[in-house]
Amino acid sequence: MYDIAVIGAGPAGATLARLVGRKYKVLLLDRRELVGTGDGYYEKCCGGLIAPDAQYMLAKLGLGVPKEILVGPQLFTVRTIDIQNSIERYYQRHYINIDRERFDRWLVSLIPSSVDIRCGALFKKYLIENKIIKVSFKHKGKEYTEDVRYLVGADGAFSTLRRQMVPGLFQKTYISVQEWFKASQNQPFFSAIFDNDISDFYSWTIPKEDCILVGATVLLNENAGQRFNLLKERLVKRGYELQESMKKNGAFILRPQNIKQVFIGNDNIAFIGEAAGWISPTSAEGLSYAFRSAVALSKSIQQDPENLIREYHKNTRGLGMNIIIKNLKSPFMYNQYLRKAVMKTGLLSMDIYE
Ligand SMILES: Cc1cc2nc3c(=O)[nH]c(=O)nc-3n(C[C@H](O)[C@H](O)[C@H](O)COP(=O)(O)OP(=O)(O)OC[C@H]3O[C@@H](n4cnc5c(N)ncnc54)[C@H](O)[C@@H]3O)c2cc1C
Repeated sequence: MYDIAVIGAGPAGATLARLVGRKYKVLLLDRRELVGTGDGYYEKCCGGLIAPDAQYMLAKLGLGVPKEILVGPQLFTVRTIDIQNSIERYYQRHYINIDRERFDRWLVSLIPSSVDIRCGALFKKYLIENKIIKVSFKHKGKEYTEDVRYLVGADGAFSTLRRQMVPGLFQKTYISVQEWFKASQNQPFFSAIFDNDISDFYSWTIPKEDCILVGATVLLNENAGQRFNLLKERLVKRGYELQESMKKNGAFILRPQNIKQVFIGNDNIAFIGEAAGWISPTSAEGLSYAFRSAVALSKSIQQDPENLIREYHKNTRGLGMNIIIKNLKSPFMYNQYLRKAVMKTGLLSMDIYE
């Protein structure tokens, strides 16, 4: 019998397991191979930028990022391109550019050895019997069921656990597509592209060593492939070099458009990270939310395990407020006319010496 089972060893699940792993008997499941060299069969689709909020959380967690995780160039600028309004601006930002797969593996390597980590384990379903949660999963071809007291969904945007508990929570479903191209150009900025023909969210380019990563987030069932091709055409016209494709992947991504879409759990089942809907609805920055929610749940488990969700709700009030504020800010980024008004002022933008 385990005290806690955590589904998903991404930044949220790995952080929680690290924080509670010495005090409680913890089972951590992930379908990915995140320990040792692994087989890298499934990689998290991500831009791999650590934004200032996530840097702050890493500092609070007492962590510094090892140099093997960094990729060049490090970025200090966002090039904002508004296609419909034909405006371009550069803004100063401070990102840490990383290899996301190596980052996830590093976070898992920090988990105490007392945690039972099962990589290559696919969570299937749960059942509650006399207050005990029975967790069923498949690990290396064999079916298992383990008894646990608390179950944590840290299984990301397409959380199997959340979809079992609250199906249809998100009316609008987005998917992200990312493609890596070989690049000889030096483009030391993160581009954020606003284009109504592609999406009501945004698209991006990020330089990664000798590649450039192109990504877009579009509504599911709105012909993602065609829209992504249109984005690439428009980028090529603007001088981006996108000839030799190296790899392509995709993932679901959540965009909580009101705080009611964030589902933190019920009774002895809690959600952290993107599985709960903790992600910025304006920038899709998710690492800081993964860390903050994991810290909040770890505190709640230790403070008042009998009233876990009530305590967790209290401990995530600030995070909830953050989602509300971001949604209030959203029209200034995503309404074409308000965005034009903001960008036209040039406020906080900078000139780049060519
Ligand atoms: C295209 C894209 C670009 C992004 N770029 C950035 C960025 O640059 N910076 C940033 O801060 N955020 C970014 N985000 C958001 C960020 O990636 C997520 O918010 C963050 O990864 C959430 O962490 P998590 O631990 O909650 O979930 P995840 O990182 O998604 O981890 C979930 C884990 O659960 C596992 N899992 C899922 N289902 C099961 C199952 N049934 N059984 C077992 N294991 C399971 C998965 O294998 C995975 O390891 C981006 C997201 C996308 C889609």
